[in-house]
Amino acid sequence: MNKMQLSFLSRSENEIFARNVVAAFALPLNPTLSELSDVKTAVSEAVTNAVVHGYGNDEGWITVTCETEGTLLHITVSDSGKGIEDIEQALTPFFTTLPGEERSGMGFTIMQTFMTSLSVRSEKGKGTSVTMTKQFGAKAEADAR
Ligand code: ATP
Ligand code: MG
Repeated sequence: MNKMQLSFLSRSENEIFARNVVAAFALPLNPTLSELSDVKTAVSEAVTNAVVHGYGNDEGWITVTCETEGTLLHITVSDSGKGIEDIEQALTPFFTTLPGEERSGMGFTIMQTFMTSLSVRSEKGKGTSVTMTKQFGAKAEADAR
């Protein structure tokens, strides 16, 4: 078991920083390039959401925590921004509260597709926490069967 925690300001350039830090932390689990790319994409989507929706134009802290457990990597991306009114609706493909801008409402769907599991906790006015788990070696295991 290993853990790390990272905090940074809600600036869009920190998406690249955060996803690369998480990828570096995951390396001891021997991920494939494809698994690593899945994790980086999911972290980017979650951090982008915190920047764009959580804080809007405000500046605030985003925290990323990671924990390994065997072949599992648990990642939590948290903000103290505006929160999500209706989580089920937010998880629906193509649902976005920022239509017309460059948002397509696919962020959560991408995270769910690329990760093994995802859960969202949010309170209006208090913030949002997205927890995602990736199981490394899942495809190799399935292929061996
Ligand atoms: P895309 O990710 O395709 O650019 P999107 O960000 O609108 O578009 P999702 O990432 O699926 O789509 O998020 C769906 C909706 O959930 C958002 O439009 C927003 O209303 C809400 N949301 C997501 N993350 C947060 C967050 N951290 N804080 C507040 N609201 C959020
Ligand atoms: Mg998004």
